[in-house]
Amino acid sequence: MQNPGSQTVSAHATHDVTNQPGDLTGFNAYSSDHALRDAIRTFNAAWATPNLTDLGALIGSPRMAQLARDANRHVPELRTHDRFGNRIDMVDYHPAWHELMTEIRAHGSISLGWTADRPGAHTARAALSYLWGQGEPGVCCPATMTFASIGALRHQPDILACFQAKILSSEYDPRPLPPGQKTSLSVGMAMTEKQAGSDLRQTQTVAAPAGNATGPGARYHLTGHKWFFSVPLSDLFLTLARTDAGISCFLAQGWLDDGSRNRLQIQRLKEKCGNRANASSEIEFRGLEAIMIGEEGRGIATLLDMAHLTRLECALGSAALIRQATIQAIHHTSHRTAFQRKLADQPIMTNLLADLALEAEAATWLAMRAAAALDAAPRDDGQKSLNRVLTPIAKYWVCRRAPAVLAEVLEAHGGNGFVEDHCIARLYREAPLNGLWEGSGNVICLDVLRALTRAPDSADALHAEIAAAKGLHPALDQSLRQLEATLANPQNFEPNARRIVESMALALQASLLLRHAPSDIADAFCASRLAGDRGIALGTLPSHLNFSAIITRARVPAR
Ligand SMILES: Cc1cc2nc3c(=O)[nH]c(=O)nc-3n(C[C@H](O)[C@H](O)[C@H](O)COP(=O)(O)OP(=O)(O)OC[C@H]3O[C@@H](n4cnc5c(N)ncnc54)[C@H](O)[C@@H]3O)c2cc1C
Repeated sequence: MQNPGSQTVSAHATHDVTNQPGDLTGFNAYSSDHALRDAIRTFNAAWATPNLTDLGALIGSPRMAQLARDANRHVPELRTHDRFGNRIDMVDYHPAWHELMTEIRAHGSISLGWTADRPGAHTARAALSYLWGQGEPGVCCPATMTFASIGALRHQPDILACFQAKILSSEYDPRPLPPGQKTSLSVGMAMTEKQAGSDLRQTQTVAAPAGNATGPGARYHLTGHKWFFSVPLSDLFLTLARTDAGISCFLAQGWLDDGSRNRLQIQRLKEKCGNRANASSEIEFRGLEAIMIGEEGRGIATLLDMAHLTRLECALGSAALIRQATIQAIHHTSHRTAFQRKLADQPIMTNLLADLALEAEAATWLAMRAAAALDAAPRDDGQKSLNRVLTPIAKYWVCRRAPAVLAEVLEAHGGNGFVEDHCIARLYREAPLNGLWEGSGNVICLDVLRALTRAPDSADALHAEIAAAKGLHPALDQSLRQLEATLANPQNFEPNARRIVESMALALQASLLLRHAPSDIADAFCASRLAGDRGIALGTLPSHLNFSAIITRARVPAR
């Protein structure tokens, strides 16, 4: 009798695998991104090219694709107790997570903006963050909060001086030890409670002085809970609690100086729609030891100086998702045939790809312009005013576009896009998050309007930024006139807030593209987004546009 295992494979073959495009890997995510490279040159950060090119190679590598897959498939696990029953409140991560965390630190994605004392430092760091957003967005959460913590800790310079070097270290040290025994420190932020995330004035957690001293720099014991706390193994974290003077900001250590866990308990980890590699937890403070940071009773304002920076990161992260989705769509449709023609060459698909490429280029410029304003703010009052309003505008609009783009890109992949083997399914689940956290859409629009009404300099700076392209396209000139009318008559802002912020974002993107991008891109953007020559869905551009030029600029070149 013949052994079935000895029969040739061909005797049982059912089909050949054909017409499957394969993975888009083995490319340099920086070198192949024309819009990003142009933005880096324009905004004084060309000196960072070697670092960006180095990271770009990692982000486009098969290794990165594997790490991202593994870190999201093998999700973090909570271990509340050790085997003897002692409370430990630890989280176990897959080795892929630790490798990603090592890399994100090593490339300066946390530190560069603060440590490179030269123009363009924040712009360069923002580009690193944007590249990571295409690699594995989960690790961007701890990196972002650690980077942004400097904004809040500056309110307490003595405390910042104690920790700054380790916060900005390029080493990754995951050991559960007190700060003094570690080579680097991660910083988290725990604000959201069950009853309120946006309206932090409803904070219930209370702080009681731990000794006779009270006020900034004094020690307190905190009792209460937080409903969302990402990175529960943070070495340090900022949080909010009530004192008699109102809601104040506090800094707590994850592990106390004697090596014990600070007095917090992790109740459970969230089962999330996306961002699964990153653990987000529910915690209770049971007499948590913490130090007051900044003015007593002004805790929300103190933490907003951190949140302003994390909002920039949200815009960068969503621009990254849009870019990554767009190049995946171009890759897939360029290598898959239907009805005797490559999908990318089917006229309706070509229109969609061009529309996606416009979104990607415009998102990249807007997010990077916000980073450049942050960079220039210490040296230039006009840029400081612009930074105040540009960051929330970019956060609102770029984050709003990401889910729409991801939905189209998933569909462009057909059934393959809906299966977890492919990165698009993961990025699709990730897409709404940047819009949600660090101020959801409505809250961000209200923040823009607050900036414009309370800080007239910001309105002037916004106008100047858009007007820098005045005369370059009639549709932009028309948008500028509308903006002037809106700013001159700030009545009834709130119900129209989304509409107003959207039109500001589009005018900003158009202005940037007219000044810095090829004319095919800028003209197509103005015709479709400002003059309204399009439908509501993506892929509805007017057909006379130069789709080929627009797609070619976005495409990752074949190796
Ligand atoms: C994966 C994940 C991780 C997170 N990690 C953290 C973390 O580490 N630390 C932390 O502190 N928080 C964290 N959060 C919480 C997040 O910041 C909040 O969910 C967010 O701020 C919204 O708060 P909320 O959920 O209470 O919603 P709500 O405040 O109830 O808002 C619900 C909706 O109402 C809208 N809204 C609110 N106020 C107004 C208004 N005045 N006018 C019109 N509309 C309004 C909002 O825009 C939103 O769309 C995380 C959330 C997620 C999903």
